[in-house]
Order: sequence, then structure tokens, then C-alpha cells
Amino acid sequence: MGTPVNIIVGSHVWIEDPEEAWIGGYVSKINEKDAEVETTDGKKVANLSKILPKDTEVLPGGVDDMTKLSYLHEPGVLQNLKARYELNKIYTYTGNILIAINPFQTLPHIYGAHMMQRYKEDPLGELSPHVFAVAEVAYRAMVTEWKNNSILVSGESGAGKTETTKMIMQFLAFLGGRAVTEGRTVEQQVLESNPVLEAFGNAKTVRNNNSSRFGKFVEIQFDKSGRISGAAIRTYLLERSRVCQINDPERNYHCFYLLCAAPQEEIEKYKLGNPKSFHYLNQSQCYELADVNDAHEYLATRRAMGIVGIGHKDQEAIFRIVAAILHLGNIDFAKGKETDSSIPKDSKAEFHLKTAAELLMCDADALEDALCKRVMITPEEVIKRSLDPGSATVSRDGLAKTIYSRLFDWLVDKINNSIGQDPNSKCLIGVLDIYGFESFKLNSFEQFCINFTNEKLQQHFNQHMFKMEQEEYAKEEINWSYIEFVDNKDVLDLIEKKSGGIIALLDEACMFPKSTHETFANKLYQTFKNNKRFIKPKLSQTDFTIAHYAGEVTYQSDHFLDKNKDYVVPEYQDLLIASKCPFVSALFPPLPEETSKSSKFSSIGSRFKLQLQQLMETLSSTEPHYIRCVKPNNLLKPAIFENVNIMHQLRCGGVLDAIRISCAGYPTRRPFFEFVNRFGLLAPEAIEANCNEKNACQKILEKTGLKGYRIGKTKVFLRAGQMAELDAQRAQV
Ligand code: ATP
Ligand code: MG
Repeated sequence: MGTPVNIIVGSHVWIEDPEEAWIGGYVSKINEKDAEVETTDGKKVANLSKILPKDTEVLPGGVDDMTKLSYLHEPGVLQNLKARYELNKIYTYTGNILIAINPFQTLPHIYGAHMMQRYKEDPLGELSPHVFAVAEVAYRAMVTEWKNNSILVSGESGAGKTETTKMIMQFLAFLGGRAVTEGRTVEQQVLESNPVLEAFGNAKTVRNNNSSRFGKFVEIQFDKSGRISGAAIRTYLLERSRVCQINDPERNYHCFYLLCAAPQEEIEKYKLGNPKSFHYLNQSQCYELADVNDAHEYLATRRAMGIVGIGHKDQEAIFRIVAAILHLGNIDFAKGKETDSSIPKDSKAEFHLKTAAELLMCDADALEDALCKRVMITPEEVIKRSLDPGSATVSRDGLAKTIYSRLFDWLVDKINNSIGQDPNSKCLIGVLDIYGFESFKLNSFEQFCINFTNEKLQQHFNQHMFKMEQEEYAKEEINWSYIEFVDNKDVLDLIEKKSGGIIALLDEACMFPKSTHETFANKLYQTFKNNKRFIKPKLSQTDFTIAHYAGEVTYQSDHFLDKNKDYVVPEYQDLLIASKCPFVSALFPPLPEETSKSSKFSSIGSRFKLQLQQLMETLSSTEPHYIRCVKPNNLLKPAIFENVNIMHQLRCGGVLDAIRISCAGYPTRRPFFEFVNRFGLLAPEAIEANCNEKNACQKILEKTGLKGYRIGKTKVFLRAGQMAELDAQRAQV
């Protein structure tokens, strides 16, 4: 971002710092290419090219829009956010992006009905930046131009996406709700879908006590009078592995703990008890959440289920299945009589097997068979092959995951059906709450899909930002011929190209019976050896690295093949379809003839790619609004602002890219009168001549000898760094 600027002895500057990201100070000495800077942290020496000018005229409470900063660069952005956060001003604009920094404390004065009313009455956007203001703009644009709008909320885990999304939905319900509430209204159902989906799709993780383990796009439909008339929820990639495997101090999905805290009658009916007695829960020592009462939440969830149209009988079946999954997890296996066979380990395992079968309303022997045996069909005969205890355990977990993910999909479908789609809907506002870029020590297929999503959204974002910039210049009648457009198409090709992208190669590997993760990784190494975005790490034979827009991520290919296969073994299909519980059997509808015959397998990666394509199509038919949520610290505590951490998120969230795009043009814009006020003394004659403001600006700029600036209809447009040059000239007057 740094175009060289005039830095002289006495200049106020920012220098890079490994701990603080940037430290402010002033230049005390310059030796050729190096500057000595006096900072609050002592004297530092840095190369002149690594130094950025610091604005000395910042307002104590910062500016509500970064584009108002005199110096639009990283340290300026960071300083502004910090100054605001200290005053609990958690929202700031960067042009049309809203940055929201998680306060990690309730700030009742900025939300609530009173604030909704105020933002509703603020069509000109004169109030402070706010999530309500963004929703208001989207709603107003929709009802005046009848164009679809979307609000895209992103950020890392715990940054506040889901809370922000809920506030948007609340505010839209406020704007587009019915004055008289008769029974269950559509908007009430839309709002109550949140606690239901959270009970089944959220869990405590180390990053967030209420982490959404799925992505969500809610499409709210409006009729021609601007009232909410329907809604559709699409969900993406529920984390299935959590059902069977959790790490301390995380938790499984909330619903398991809620059910264990249900009224006694239900506990007895489902043969439940302390969560500590279930393998799927006791792999972690965390059972309770601070400030959450599971017994109370259980009742609240049932109430919300009622509102979204899930009847009592279905609710009963749902929790029966949740209980069955807990019992399944407690079926341990021991070696059977024959070699490589297995049987329930002891009477305890037998009890859980029997209970799981009862709850699923299927035959206990059939369940045992499905867990411990596989049917092999050879041309001559049908043989039953036994599984050893290890394989039977894997098989058991597979069954639990399959049932749970089908249950989750059922909930989403049911909510959609009962809220109902409005076939005559005039317009919609879509709200996207989806996982942000992830880069951990170990990264698997899930991170790969998540980062693929973020590449897609980033491309959409770049294209939109670019368009917006062009429109602003057109409005001010500035001719604008440059642009080096930030593009990540090459990464997207690497991942999703139809023939020969990573997803295609993965599908190919999954279809070929002899593939292993080694052969898959080798294929990647060969195919992409000259790809700039693909790197083979030196010390590994199976990892691969992708150079994403937000940084390099190394993926472990070990489980890519397994995780990509979306396959329900026929034994489970047959077992559950025969359940006497219509709810359970309906979760496993018979496969259509062709698919069961053909060997074509269904791939999670390809299906996800398709889902993303559909999402992008929907989004590109909308006017997008962006909210970037930022997590100020990893302790999940209020009032701690970690510079380096935040800088990293701004980079990953594309905020710095957006700034870079605008820096490549004319990032600093000043209305004529402001410009004259600040720089009038550079050309006093221009003001004395009593000419109009535009001419005065022209005269001042001519006298300074700057090149490349533009004068629009109401504003001066400066190139990056020119503001600093003007300030330097002013300091010498
Ligand atoms: P994940 O990707 O893990 O789902 P997320 O971005 O959806 O994370 P949230 O669940 O929305 O994160 O927020 C995490 C927590 O931060 C909330 O449970 C809440 O305690 C707090 N929080 C977020 N936004 C706000 C806010 N605007 N005001 C007060 N607290 C907030
Ligand atoms: Mg969330």
C-alpha cells in the first residue's frame, strides 16, 4: 500500500513491529535509506521504504468510515478501529463494508426496539455505523428499486457472524413484519428457526462457546407491500465427525446435553442419565456451559420447534433418535468366536444395543448384524463377512453420523416446508452466515471446503468492489483508465476446474478401488507441479499446500478420500427403512433404481461445489452488502484488542484487499471546502481571489506540483500518498 512519500526529520510515522503490528513515533534522524524513529517503545531503526506516514490530526473517537482517513493504510485502519473499540463503538465502515468487532459483552444501548425504530427512521444514514443501518439500506433498496439484495456476513469462528445474522433477521422482521400478529407469523417462524438449528447444529468449541458447525443462507421473501411472505433456508456441510468424536474441552452438539437435562419422565423413557455415562460425550470433560441452563434450553428448544411447525409426535421421534445415537455410541465390541468377528463386549454393550434398537424401532438382531457384518455379493453366492471389533466400531460411528446428518437435513426441510415459500414473492433479501477462512496446524477436507467457499466469496467480493469503485468515479465524472484487478481465478481453477481440478481428481481417486491417500497425493503432485498456487511441502509425501488469497494452507490428505465419499452402506439402509417408526424409515427413502445399480458414487466435494455454484448464482442476482466480523482476541473477553490478530483477520476478510483496490485508484477523497480549509495556506492567493471552491482547489493543487490527482464534481480525488505530500508541504510553510 505504501507509495513512497516525503518523510523527513520530524515526520510522524508508523513502523512495523512484530508484536504490535505497527508502532507510532517520529523520525529523529535519516541516514540515507534508514530512518531512526523515536517510538513509545524506544528508538528503532527502519528502512525508509518500510515506514508509513502517520496522521497527526486524528479525532479522538476515530472516523466512522475508513475512507475519511487522511492516510488510508494498515496502521491508519488499525488505529482507527482501536480508538473506536475503546469507546465501545464496535461498528465502522470501509466504504460499503461494515466492520463489526465482537464486544464480548452485552451492549444493550445499541440494540433493542428503540434502536430499531431510530434506524428505521434514518433513511439518509446519518446515525452511527450499525448492522441495522446495513439491513435498512438493503430493505430500502429492495422496496424502492424492487431488486434482490443480500447481506454477506463473514469472519472467523467466534467473530460474531451468527449474532449479527440474528440481529439482521430481527430488524428485517421489524421492518417487514405484520402489525397485527395472528397466530404464528412467517417472521416469527423465521426467527424461531435459529434456536432450533442452533440446538442441532451448534456446539462449544475452543474458539466459540456456541459455534455453528454448518453454513447457512437464509432467503427472506417479501411481497409487493414489503411484508415478509416466505423464507427458505439452505445449509452447507454440517460437521459430521463431531457426533462421534470430540476433543477436550469441546462439546458435542447442544441437543445431546439438552436431552440429558430433560424432565425425569423423558430421561426414563429414553433410558438416559448423566452425560458422563455416554462415550460420545465423555471424550471431553466439558459438559456444562457457563450461563446456560440445559434444562431450560431443552424446553425452549421444544417450544421453538412447535413454532416452526414441528408437531409433538415429530419432536418425540427426533429426541428418540438423539437418545438412540447416544446409546449406539456405548456399544463396545469384543472379539467373537470366529476369527476377525465381533460381538457386543458385555452386558452393558448388549443393553445399549437393545435400547438403541428399541428407540429406532428396529430389530435388535438386525442392528447387531448391520454393525458387525457386511454382505458380499459374488457371482456365485451371497456371503456374510464378519468385521473385527475395530471395524465394527468404525461401522457403528458411521451409522451414528449418517442418522444424525439425515436428521439435521430433515429439520431444515421441515422448517422450509412449514414457513413456506411465497411463489408470488416480489423480492428477497438473502443473509449468509458462513464459516470464514481457516488455517490450523492440521487441516483436512473440511478446511479445504471452507477455504474453497472463501475463495468463491472473495472472487465475488473483488468483482463487486471493482464495480463500485468504477461507479463512484463515473458519478464524479472522472475518467479512470487504470486498473490492476485483484483476481483469484487461478486458485479457483486449481480447486474446481471441471477436468483436472483438485475436486475432480479426488472424485476420480474415490471411484478407483485401489486408491490410497498416497496415490491421490502423488497424482496432485504430478498434475500441479508447475502450478504457482500449488506447493508440495518438502518434508511430506502426502500433504499439499495451496496458496490461498489469504495465505498458504497445508492440507493433510489422509482422510480426504473417506470424507469425500457420501455413501450409506446398504446394510444400514435396509435396517432403517424397515423401522416401525415412520419418522426413522422416512429418513432413509429407497434409492432410485438407476443410482443403486450404477456404480456412480456420490461425492461430498462435488455436491458442495454445485451448492456453491448455486449460491453464487443467487448472490450475483442480488445487490450485495458486506459485513466483516472481527474477533478482537482469542480469550473471548471484552476490551482486549490484539493488533496482530486483528490485522490478520482484516487481511483474510479481504478488507485490506478492498483498501488496496481503492488505493490503486484515488483512495483519498475530500469535499472541496474541506480541502480548501486544510490546504488553503499553501496558496493563500487562491482563496483571496475569492473564486469558487472548485477553482481554489485547482489552484492549490497546481501550485503544489502534484501529478495524477483528479477533480470531480464535488470532491478532490488524490492518489495514494498525495495527502502526505500535501501535509509535508504544509508543515514547511
Ligand atoms: P462460528 O463460526 O463459530 O459460528 P460466529 O462468528 O457465528 O462463530 P457468534 O456465535 O455469532 O460467532 O458469536 C460468538 C459469541 O460472541 C456470542 O455467543 C456472543 O457471546 C458474542 N457476541 C458476538 N456478537 C456480539 C454482539 N454484537 N454483542 C454482544 N456479544 C456478541
Ligand atoms: Mg456462528
